[in-house]
Amino acid sequence: MPELPEAETIVRGLRPELTGKRVKDFVFLSPHLWRKQPASALRPDSYRGKRIEDIWRRGKLIVFSFNGQEGLLIHLKMTGQLYLTDPNQPVDKHTHALMTFSGLGKELRFRDIRKFGFLNCLKMAEIKEKVSAELGPEPLGIKSDEFYGLLKQYGKKRIKGWLLDQKIIAGIGNIYSDEMLFRAGINPERPAGSLSPEEARKLYRAMRAVLKKAIELKGSSVSDYIDSSGKKGEFQKWHRVYGKEGQLCPRCQTTGIKRKKINGRSSFFCPVCQS
Ligand SMILES: [Zn+2]
Repeated sequence: MPELPEAETIVRGLRPELTGKRVKDFVFLSPHLWRKQPASALRPDSYRGKRIEDIWRRGKLIVFSFNGQEGLLIHLKMTGQLYLTDPNQPVDKHTHALMTFSGLGKELRFRDIRKFGFLNCLKMAEIKEKVSAELGPEPLGIKSDEFYGLLKQYGKKRIKGWLLDQKIIAGIGNIYSDEMLFRAGINPERPAGSLSPEEARKLYRAMRAVLKKAIELKGSSVSDYIDSSGKKGEFQKWHRVYGKEGQLCPRCQTTGIKRKKINGRSSFFCPVCQS
């Protein structure tokens, strides 16, 4: 569930606290994290003494870069949480990794109830290669004509699936795709290539507006998402269609919000306002 705004919020919270800090210890507490390491992975104990040079986001991924060759690639998937806390706080069974730092009275914890998330200990060069091979452009970095070009290039895909495809455009998931399509007045089942230039502009503007507002409000907490200090986001209060099946559409006020499986994912939309 954490999408671009949630990953961005976590990065913005961690960066000022951890940049320049040296790792005292880094440990995996759960065997499933070992199983998710690629064959080329480094051992967590090789991060001891390394200094964090930067923390950044690409799509829904969070990346730590260290002095030297080490990097850390983090995907929170459905229920992952990455936050700083007092080391005296009890460690529960859903906490799968810990990182401590020299001269910092807080530790970093990775907690994940459903265990779909991962931390991959890789060389920075490998992370960069992986990210550029697997992810399309950033929705807040792409220009409108490039956006239109991608709609045409992958025109046979339904627009809902198009927005969710990380190779086409990176960082958008189920919540924000529904909110963007509603604001743009576009039905989620439309083929991406069928959008007129005017509709494409509307969607481009809605995409940027929704993501920027969600970052400003520190993400959406609909299930387990918390920011790097353990606080919930606020954007869920601004959701207009996501999770609102049967409720009256906030725009036309005459029709109930529908829920339909599209590309295997639940989509929420107004059949009147979104054509
Ligand atoms: Zn409506």
